[in-house]
Amino acid sequence: MIYLDNAATTKMSKTAIDAMLPFMDKIYGNPSSLHSAGQEANEALYNARERIARVLGCEAREITFTSGGSEADNQAIISAARIGERQGKKHIISTAIEHHAVLHTLDRLKKEGFEITLLNVGENGIIEPNKVKEAIREDTCLVTVMYANNEIGTIQPIKQIGEICRQKGVLFHTDAVQAVGHIKIDVKEQNIDMLSLSAHKFHGPKGVGALYAKKGIRLTNLIDGGAQERGKRAGTENIPAIMGMAAALEEAVGNIDCNAKKLTVLRDKLINGLSTIPHSVLNGDTTKRLPGNVNFCFEGIEGESLLLLLDDRGVCASSGSACTSGSLDPSHVLLAIGRVHDIAHGSLRLSLSEENTEQEIDYTIKAVTEVVAYLRSISPVWRDLENGKQEFIIK
Ligand SMILES: *Cc1c(COP(=O)(O)O)cnc(C)c1O
Repeated sequence: MIYLDNAATTKMSKTAIDAMLPFMDKIYGNPSSLHSAGQEANEALYNARERIARVLGCEAREITFTSGGSEADNQAIISAARIGERQGKKHIISTAIEHHAVLHTLDRLKKEGFEITLLNVGENGIIEPNKVKEAIREDTCLVTVMYANNEIGTIQPIKQIGEICRQKGVLFHTDAVQAVGHIKIDVKEQNIDMLSLSAHKFHGPKGVGALYAKKGIRLTNLIDGGAQERGKRAGTENIPAIMGMAAALEEAVGNIDCNAKKLTVLRDKLINGLSTIPHSVLNGDTTKRLPGNVNFCFEGIEGESLLLLLDDRGVCASSGSACTSGSLDPSHVLLAIGRVHDIAHGSLRLSLSEENTEQEIDYTIKAVTEVVAYLRSISPVWRDLENGKQEFIIK
C-alpha cells in the first residue's frame, strides 16, 4: 500500500509510541491526585507542556491541552468572541478557505449576532495581508487565518498578518494544524496570539492537540468540570497521548529541514509527472505550499471514481479534506480559488510523508495517468469535449 493521505492523518512514529507506553502501565496515576503515583504523572505532564512550549517559542503556562485541532480552534475562536463581546466588539475576520472547525464555529457565532467577514484568496490560494488590514474595523475582535491549507497546501503570510493585527490591537489566531512539525514556527517572532495544533498530523497520536494562547488572553472553557488546565478544560488529562504528542513534535521539528528537503523533491517530481496529463491543473501556489502537498484537478473526471480506482491499485489518496469526502458538495477551498463546480469535482489530493519513496512516486504518477485515461475513455462528457460539442475549461 502506498499511503499518500498524510494531510488526513499520519502513521505514529516509533518515538511517539515508545514515549506513550510507560504512561499506560507504569505511570498511570491521575495528575490531580496528591499521592506519589499522581505526582509522578503530574511531573510528566508539566514536562510535556514545557517541551511543547519550547518548540513553539512560548511559555509552558501558555499551552492548554485539548482533544485535537478542532477543539483548539473552537476554544480559541469562542474565547476571542467572549472577550470581544464584553467590549462591545462583535466582528470577526477570517478566510473562505478555512477548515470546517473554524468555519462552523464562525457560523455558530453568526447565529448569536456576530458579524463575520470571510476574505477571499487569490487564484493561488494566498491571502493578501493588505486585505486583512482593510477589513479591520473598530469593532473587530478577532482575525483568524489558517497557517497552511489542508487541501491545497498554500502557506499564508502569517507574520505580516500578525503584525497588522498587533498594530491594530486585534487578537490574531491561526489554525496551524497542517503547519506545526512541517514548517518552522515561533509564535512570538511571528506575532501570533493564539495557535491550534494537533498531534496526529505530525506522527503523534489521534485525539490530542493543544491551544497556545498568549498570557493575558482569558480562555473560555468549552468543557466544565474539574480544575484541570487551570480551570479552562475539565477532564482527566490524556497523559499517554500528551507524552506521545510532545515526543512526536520534538522529533518532527528536530528533522524539519531534512524532511522538508526530501519532501519537496518528491512533491515536485509528482507535480511534474501529473502535469503531463492533458487538461489538468495544479491547485494552489507552486512554491508557497507545504512540502508534502500535491493537489490537482482533472477535467472530465469524477473525483470519487478516481479515488476508488487508485485504491484498487494500492494508492491511498483523497479528493480533498476527509470531512467533505463522502458528501457530494465540491470543496469550498477549490471553489474559493475559482474552480467551477465540474472541475472542482475532479480533484485529487496526494499528501506525502518523509517515509514515501521515489519508487512510490513513480508508481503513483503511472497509476494516476492510467486511471485518468481509463475514466475519460468511458465518459460521455469526455466524448463531447473531444468532439468539440463542449469546450474544455482546463486548456
Ligand atoms: C486536521 C485538521 C483540523 C482538525 O484537527 P483534529 O485534531 O482532527 O480535530 C483542523 N484544521 C486543519 C487545518 C486540519 O488539517
